[in-house]
Amino acid sequence: MANDMYDAIVIGGGVMGCATAYYLMKFDPRLKVVVLEMDPTYAKASTPLSDGNTRIQFNVKENIQMSQYGLEVLKTFAEDMAVGNEKPDIAFRQQGNLFVLDDASRDEAYEGMLLQRSLGCEVYWLTPEEVQQRFPLYNLKNCSAGAFGPLDGTMSPMAVLNAYKHKAISLGAKYIQAEAIEVLHQAGRVTGVRAATGEVLRGGIALNAAGAWAPLIAQTAGVNLPIAPTKRQITIVETNYRSESILPMLFLPSGLYIVHEGAGLFMVGKSFPDDYVGYDDFRWEKNVFEERIWFELADHIPLFDRLKILRGWAGLYEVNTLDGNAILGETPQMQGFFFANGFSGHGFQQAHAVGRYTAELMLGKPPTLDLSVFLASRIAENKPVFESKKKII
Ligand SMILES: Cc1cc2nc3c(=O)[nH]c(=O)nc-3n(C[C@H](O)[C@H](O)[C@H](O)COP(=O)(O)OP(=O)(O)OC[C@H]3O[C@@H](n4cnc5c(N)ncnc54)[C@H](O)[C@@H]3O)c2cc1C
Repeated sequence: MANDMYDAIVIGGGVMGCATAYYLMKFDPRLKVVVLEMDPTYAKASTPLSDGNTRIQFNVKENIQMSQYGLEVLKTFAEDMAVGNEKPDIAFRQQGNLFVLDDASRDEAYEGMLLQRSLGCEVYWLTPEEVQQRFPLYNLKNCSAGAFGPLDGTMSPMAVLNAYKHKAISLGAKYIQAEAIEVLHQAGRVTGVRAATGEVLRGGIALNAAGAWAPLIAQTAGVNLPIAPTKRQITIVETNYRSESILPMLFLPSGLYIVHEGAGLFMVGKSFPDDYVGYDDFRWEKNVFEERIWFELADHIPLFDRLKILRGWAGLYEVNTLDGNAILGETPQMQGFFFANGFSGHGFQQAHAVGRYTAELMLGKPPTLDLSVFLASRIAENKPVFESKKKII
């Protein structure tokens, strides 16, 4: 690969890198696009470790619009991503997302719902009794209202990643197993990327799609990204619940969430302010569920008083410590160095819109959806875009 010239060098082959590579090739099949992925097994990548959920319920207009676009894409995803006769099956399950609101979270969620509706989204405002109809296991503790997005749902994040990857390859993108260790530059412009093997890929446009590892690669070009690699855990539990239908995903005001996986199986997660920050701890800690989650869960949903803890895993949120939102576009500090980073736990669902937007910017095309509110320039200008007035994420 030495001395090859590329039109675009993508660092990181997670869902962001793959979606961007796909859109680049779709826009112009003559492009020479290369994706560098240091671990093609994706053992620590956030994409396969995520819940794979998509929701329309955001308070920032552009986040809602990204989810709307994602839902559009998913309608014909299998056909659009087909390679030959092979159509990907991403197991998209539109079980709906139900947010339980207490007195403190209610007004902000209501404002969000009005905005979502004004953009054409299907979202319902529920009384506590209606919450119970949707989620009969809930005992209405602290419930003052509910917000329900019936089109939201969960899917296999790895299947989505693979679909973009295989399609991008079929259109001509090249994938290389290599760790990028340096973004090369001269006179304020990108000139290439050096791999750990010492080989150099030449090109004037590079994309940082390195997920939670993004600040490390940005640093090699002298750019500071306010991203903290923050450990998040998921636990799978089995209960006695039995039903033909799948319940909606449920979010409690504390941030605790559960995803019904069918039969008695549920996926449970919650973020804590003291979650570990670093790249060296992917251990799933059963005691976090036992000591910090179980009681609250059973307090709101008595059925969970008795359950079997089956297994779990841990992955990294790429937490943008400025405002908890995406960091996109070319950095003002270096021509040709683009970012698709900082998604803070809601990036999987945004890959469709971010992939398209990033490819458009890299090619100098006018963006179909204006996401300039998330441009990297806001970091130096200290102009945060908060999703919530009360908390960062
Ligand atoms: C527990 C958990 C639950 C989540 N749930 C959801 C959810 O329900 N919905 C949602 O929208 N989001 C969710 N997320 C967030 C979501 O997973 C991420 O925002 C998204 O996957 C980010 O994609 P990415 O491609 O940027 O990062 P990644 O998937 O991490 O991919 C980055 C890739 O870059 C590679 N890489 C890094 N550095 C280098 C380098 N120097 N050279 C070469 N390769 C490199 C890595 O190996 C990795 O494969 C969740 C995350 C976690 C951890």
